[in-house]
Amino acid sequence: CGIVGYIGASLAAPILVEGLTKLEYRGYDSAGIAIAGKDGIEVKKAKGKLAVLERQLQSGMPTGTVGIGHTRWATHGKPSNENSHPHIDNSGDFAVVHNGIIENFQKLRDQLEEEGTVFTSQTDTEVLAHLVAKYYDGDLEAAVRRLIVDIEGSFAMAFLCKHEPDKIVAVRKDSPLVVGLGDGEFYLASDIPAILKHTRRTYILDDGEMAVLTRRGVTVKCCGTGTCIEKEVFQVEWD
Ligand code: GLU
Repeated sequence: CGIVGYIGASLAAPILVEGLTKLEYRGYDSAGIAIAGKDGIEVKKAKGKLAVLERQLQSGMPTGTVGIGHTRWATHGKPSNENSHPHIDNSGDFAVVHNGIIENFQKLRDQLEEEGTVFTSQTDTEVLAHLVAKYYDGDLEAAVRRLIVDIEGSFAMAFLCKHEPDKIVAVRKDSPLVVGLGDGEFYLASDIPAILKHTRRTYILDDGEMAVLTRRGVTVKCCGTGTCIEKEVFQVEWD
């Protein structure tokens, strides 16, 4: 339902939670964040309001400066801690948040289970975490571009990878996603209110576009071909 992302010099967790509060108006049943830190990816998530997640964070705030967050409106699998996003693969090296529906998830899940993958949720989303791990060969962008070929449905999604901890890769089809351009810090969100506090300079992603966020900047590419796209900056003029 709601997606946020942050990469920069500040602690990511509070910025992500604050961004998610700006998306609460859309409704949700659970919330979570994943932070890439020096010891790998740390996930905090829980069924219920953001206040439940915030209480969890009080007893252990992840210290990384790169992360993704999500508020979920369940479509596949009941609202529960396990079904909350982010979802991770079996190694714990990859995390994903997703808005939308993966229509062919059951077929993909059956295949992955045959290959030995263990699923821990009832969501359609979880296949994305396992697929990105399966296709990863040292290049997160390439793995995301490969998994896109397998999936049908609607999505806005964002990935973190332990082996490339200074990067967020995001892609969309039939579900909104915007990038916020700061000064040495960059933001991702499914809707502009989540980033307005930080910047008014944005890229509005189109279907089939992929954004690669690092601390040095944001590159937008065609997800199909991998070629770079010259995105125009959209300046948000309203409050
Ligand atoms: N289909 C996904 C799920 O049920 C994502 C739902 C959403 O957009 O929040 O977990």
